Amino acid sequence: MSNQPSAGNLESALDRNRAFAAAGGHEGAVVLPNLRLLVITCLDPRTDPAHTLGLGLSDAMVVRNVGGRITPEVINDVAFISQIAETALPDGPLFEVAVVHHTQCGAGALADDTFRLRYADRIDADETALREHAVLDPKETVTRDVERLRSSDAISPRLTVSGHVYDVVTGLVETVT
Ligand SMILES: [Zn+2]
Repeated sequence: MSNQPSAGNLESALDRNRAFAAAGGHEGAVVLPNLRLLVITCLDPRTDPAHTLGLGLSDAMVVRNVGGRITPEVINDVAFISQIAETALPDGPLFEVAVVHHTQCGAGALADDTFRLRYADRIDADETALREHAVLDPKETVTRDVERLRSSDAISPRLTVSGHVYDVVTGLVETVT
């Protein structure tokens, strides 16, 4: 095991967890997020919203996938959270949804025919549908994804949906829609 770098890295993370718990970092966390915010973004480690948006524990709900794309699974997650929130908040706005795409996104690899065909074969998916998941122009894809989420019948009109682009070079988030 000792020659596997991941074992030591995980141990480091678990050490940090014990320090977190010992310092009471988990205390006071709530289920209904403090900022009434749901962030949907890429799993790229450069775009962790705990850092880029300064989110503390239980400030927001976060969904991350390749590219921060609005997939059928993400729509289902938003619908699920909405249904829970409707019970706690019978009237008025439920929460805000911020879709954040970013520059230099690795999901751009899905525009490469060789990469995409191999990946489609690997996960047994339709390669033409995967082409849609590529993020080459984050302003364009985030605009399309916000529209996809807003127009879904499963999504409550009591949600506010906005689209943003995080620039990995400047560290700034720009609101697009
Ligand atoms: Zn990305």
